[in-house]
Amino acid sequence: MKKTLILELKGNSLDDGPGIRSVVFFKGCPLSCIWCHNPESKKTGVEISFEPNECVGCNTCLGTCTKNALSKENPFFIDRTLCNLCFECVTNCPSNALERVGHEMNVPEIVETVLKDKPFFDTSKGGVTFSGGEPTLDMDFLGKTAKALKENGVHVLIETCGQFNYEKFNELVYPHVDLIYFDIKIMDSSHHKKYCGLPNKTILENFRTLYRRYLDGGTEVLPRTPLIPDITDTKENLLAIVSLYKEEQVKKTQLMAYHPLWRDKNLKLGISLPSTSEGKMGEWMATERTKACEKIFTDAGIALEP
Ligand code: SF4
Ligand code: SF4
Repeated sequence: MKKTLILELKGNSLDDGPGIRSVVFFKGCPLSCIWCHNPESKKTGVEISFEPNECVGCNTCLGTCTKNALSKENPFFIDRTLCNLCFECVTNCPSNALERVGHEMNVPEIVETVLKDKPFFDTSKGGVTFSGGEPTLDMDFLGKTAKALKENGVHVLIETCGQFNYEKFNELVYPHVDLIYFDIKIMDSSHHKKYCGLPNKTILENFRTLYRRYLDGGTEVLPRTPLIPDITDTKENLLAIVSLYKEEQVKKTQLMAYHPLWRDKNLKLGISLPSTSEGKMGEWMATERTKACEKIFTDAGIALEP
């Protein structure tokens, strides 16, 4: 049976949609946002991570690596050009400082795991959220998993970056989804390409199409914007988003305040930090800054979802 790469199945989440939810994090994303809060979900293949704060310095791993990929002189500890992802070191590390990132699962395995929490979904009006990475990367797999959950009476939400083929989405995924969280990050297409890796044409077209269907009685769509200092949170960008929402009669949105925790996650994966990640991107976003962004939307009559 076909399997896909899953980063994590997380239970008891209160932050990924209504009620108590289980979150299925897919691995792989068509975008490459420099601030991605889940950088371990960006690549489609398995990876190895090293958390220096968990390492007890036992040196067991050094003796198990036949590729000589591990060295305390290496600032990332692992030389990923030498590592062949055999995960011998991970198996032998007593402290979980070394970890495998990404596991293959099939549809029944995912469904069986998350259904264990169905009593919590039922009592809290919760359900299952598909996140990532980008859950629509494998539409066939996503659609089959969502369908199986719907057949078990589970509320299904997907969090998407919007970069997908609409016809395929409409055929394979849309019929099995109750709620769509849709990211609108940067309105200027050249800026979108600079910071997220691709222009935003497809994303905006998909958003407009899905939102119009929602207003016609289709699946609810909630647009969301991550507030990234001096990238998405500029007055110019937020006002452009407000204009889009006015055109599409959007009455409600969600803003996600910035936090810098992604930077440590990048280092665990051996990814150097971009030069733009210094300054404000190295700090938690001040409440006043978040409130100023919120005011741009509320002044335009667009409500904020907590
Ligand atoms: S995964 Fe294998 S090759 Fe890579 S560092 Fe660990 S032991 Fe070495
Ligand atoms: S085996 Fe684990 S705890 Fe021991 S040195 Fe290697 S990474 Fe650190």
